[in-house]
Amino acid sequence: MSSPNQPANTPAPAANFIKNIVEADLAAGKHAQRRWAGRPGTATDHAAAPLDPARIRTRFPPEPNGYLHFGHAKSILLNFGLAEQYGGRCHLRFDDTNPEKEEQEYVDAIIDSVKWLGCSWEQAGETNLYQASNYFDWMARFAEYLISSGHAYVDSQSAEAMRANRGTLTEPGKDSPFRSRSVDENMDLFKRMQAGEFPDGTHILRARIDMASPNINLRDPAIYRIRHATHHNTGDKWCIYPMYTFAHPIEDALECITHSICTLEFEDQRPFYDWLLERLAEGGLLQRPLPQQIEFSRLNLTYIVLSKRKLIQLVQEKHVDGWDDPRMPTLVGARRRGYSPQGFRLFMERVGVTKNDSLIDYVLFEDAQREVMNESDERRVAVLDPLKLVIDNYPEGQFEDCTVTNHPLHPELGSRTMPFGRELWIEGEDFQEVPEKGFRRLFPGNKARLKYGYIVECTGCDKDENGKVIAVHCTYLPDTKSGTPGADSVKVKGNLHWVSAAHAYPAEVRLYDRLFAVPAPGARREGDAPDLERDFLDDLNPASKTLITAMLEPSLKDALPEQRFQFERHGYFAADRIDSKPGAPVFNRTVTLKDSWGKGN
Ligand code: ATP
Ligand code: MG
Repeated sequence: MSSPNQPANTPAPAANFIKNIVEADLAAGKHAQRRWAGRPGTATDHAAAPLDPARIRTRFPPEPNGYLHFGHAKSILLNFGLAEQYGGRCHLRFDDTNPEKEEQEYVDAIIDSVKWLGCSWEQAGETNLYQASNYFDWMARFAEYLISSGHAYVDSQSAEAMRANRGTLTEPGKDSPFRSRSVDENMDLFKRMQAGEFPDGTHILRARIDMASPNINLRDPAIYRIRHATHHNTGDKWCIYPMYTFAHPIEDALECITHSICTLEFEDQRPFYDWLLERLAEGGLLQRPLPQQIEFSRLNLTYIVLSKRKLIQLVQEKHVDGWDDPRMPTLVGARRRGYSPQGFRLFMERVGVTKNDSLIDYVLFEDAQREVMNESDERRVAVLDPLKLVIDNYPEGQFEDCTVTNHPLHPELGSRTMPFGRELWIEGEDFQEVPEKGFRRLFPGNKARLKYGYIVECTGCDKDENGKVIAVHCTYLPDTKSGTPGADSVKVKGNLHWVSAAHAYPAEVRLYDRLFAVPAPGARREGDAPDLERDFLDDLNPASKTLITAMLEPSLKDALPEQRFQFERHGYFAADRIDSKPGAPVFNRTVTLKDSWGKGN
């Protein structure tokens, strides 16, 4: 059943199994006794502090090695949303433990995108913005604890030997000949690794768990490696760096995260996540209860790609005009295109949070965006394919105002005026010299309404030497102005929009369409030869960007960067936030009014 303010066939919010987990934990008081030192810390730091005022703590932990995409938006809205809903906090943590790939440019862009989505790590007087690289001291100390308690050892096998001894899904691994090194020897070697005595790759610190475990991730995973590299935050202080699978659980625990939410590919890592935190809590280094890792399925959408590697390729090979190209499925691209954060929220609510892998139809995303924009965006008039209309019985040099409502659903948004005169711009498609069946707009002998203005009767057209129509002629019926008593005296079926030629603002408009022409770019298709490998780049839509000069109603000259409107009959358009100049905005088409994809547009 649809509720009064929900159009029929609008999907209701979908299930979110993580909410059930959080609610059960809250009901059981699982985290009620946690303490919080006001900043990340060890068991000792937190033990001395008051009870945590946050009922739960979640985090969004991007690696600053690329721009955020639509998939990240799902994780952001989920984590910040849970914190907001249940009286918790959500931390923004840069997972910057890998020294080589991170750049400040990415850090800044991530911060902007999270804010743009309406999420804040400043909640209830706390600022929970962290950098995992600030925890390197703790991590090294914890590694030393694992060595001293017999839970870690330095392995000096070659990379090839280590790989060969790891075993396979069906065969157990083999113990390294270095696995039985003494605690003292391991500690000595690890200290010397830290001191920079060894070149990259000569030694590695591994957890001592079980080389025969059916879960390969528990076959003595690497936890620290030697890497002589300068880190953007810690400089040259370290020449050993923790592995992600070691660092991440520790980051969560130091920050008192209660629910550590990640995507399904980390499911096999959960046993190590739990093993590691248990060992460290046993040693009195981490506060209990420990964070719980919960996995959900990644967001996948048709007609786009969400892999960082592919996005980088699109930018580097210049298939798009940069990370913030309005066709890119990045959040900087989405913002520039004009998509709204509220539309992202509505979409994510509808998609829900599950463990089932699924490919979501891009139309669902566009529909959520349209729904939000239909409510929020004022209407304006734009002629995208201008054709001159001359009203032969309207005095030359005379102009009058027509009143136009700003938003048909919101009268409180008022109205504006548009000048009307003898020469107007209309859409090329609104005139047919020889009308096809059912055509109701302008053709010789037919009457139609110029919306907000007068009824006109078409009298003919002018053509150039090639027979192309260059102007349409008509006469107007003076008593039929919209909003006057005579408006209904003549019945017409066609209605068209227009802009005064003397006042129009000729603007660059970019008509964006989907970047890819097929639902699953690069995927094999039915009937493909067995050995055919497809390249996602071959599926780029060649018509994803069309530049036009449109004739806009004069008030659009004052549009501010990022301001978005519904151009009547055409769709939603946003003033470009980069290329617009004061008094000279250029517009990006965000989305058409209806889904016309694959229907000849
Ligand atoms: P990619 O695999 O696209 O390169 P990533 O996982 O390497 O992304 P991170 O910076 O590590 O990128 O991601 C930060 C968070 O965003 C992680 O918690 C990750 O699980 C989540 N995330 C990434 N992609 C998606 C997606 N498609 N759907 C939902 N969450 C995602
Ligand atoms: Mg990652």
